[in-house]
Amino acid sequence: MPQNTTYPMTPSPGGRRPRRRRSRLPVFLLMGMVIALAAVLLLTVLRPSAEAPDTEPSAPPPASDALTASAPPPTPSPEQNNLRDIPVPGWITQDILPLNEWSRPGDALPQVNGVVVHYVGNPGTTAEQNRSYFKNLAETHEAYASSHFLVGIDGKIIQCVPLNEIAYCSTVRNADTISIECCHSDAEGKFTEDTMASLVKLVDWLIDTYDLRREDVIRHYDVAGKECPIYYVRNPDAWEDFLDELTFQTP
Ligand SMILES: [Zn+2]
Repeated sequence: MPQNTTYPMTPSPGGRRPRRRRSRLPVFLLMGMVIALAAVLLLTVLRPSAEAPDTEPSAPPPASDALTASAPPPTPSPEQNNLRDIPVPGWITQDILPLNEWSRPGDALPQVNGVVVHYVGNPGTTAEQNRSYFKNLAETHEAYASSHFLVGIDGKIIQCVPLNEIAYCSTVRNADTISIECCHSDAEGKFTEDTMASLVKLVDWLIDTYDLRREDVIRHYDVAGKECPIYYVRNPDAWEDFLDELTFQTP
């Protein structure tokens, strides 16, 4: 051991030993270089993984369904509209969004073949707050998102988009459905009794207005496979119970 450690420091005169030492020198140098290289490599490998968590974007706000329900801008439609803007009953609060390309483009809804039910995905928020979110998209440009109706935890129904215009809620079915976003108190996403009562009343009115059948009342999940409205995707029986509460004129 001691001999080896002093070896580089002790140059010696000629003979066999020095030759052996000379021949060993590159080997030790090589080993040193390999170790140094390994250390450098190790550092290089370790550094990014150690920094990764820091550079990761901070957790986004609770994934509102509206946020992720971004839709590509539809092809602009002519202003004329075959569907009239059907007046809604007095138990619906009309608070129509201002025209803007992010949440109310003003494009004609050419036909209504169904109703799509969603949950907002942001527990504890009110119908008013979700309407504000839609309205603010005109400034924030976060997503293309809106729904025709919002149903609050307290059962309040707000209409955000006229019934003869498309809303940005149900991707490929934006062009032929009416969308309803329901608020919910927790992440489980089960609607309160007040929400459910209002939803049944609203969908019954839409069924009557557009002569819809049971199969026309669908979940966002049925359109895009998205877990929305989450509780009624995870509990299909609860969804069937809701459909059972509706009154269909046409079977
Ligand atoms: Zn949805």
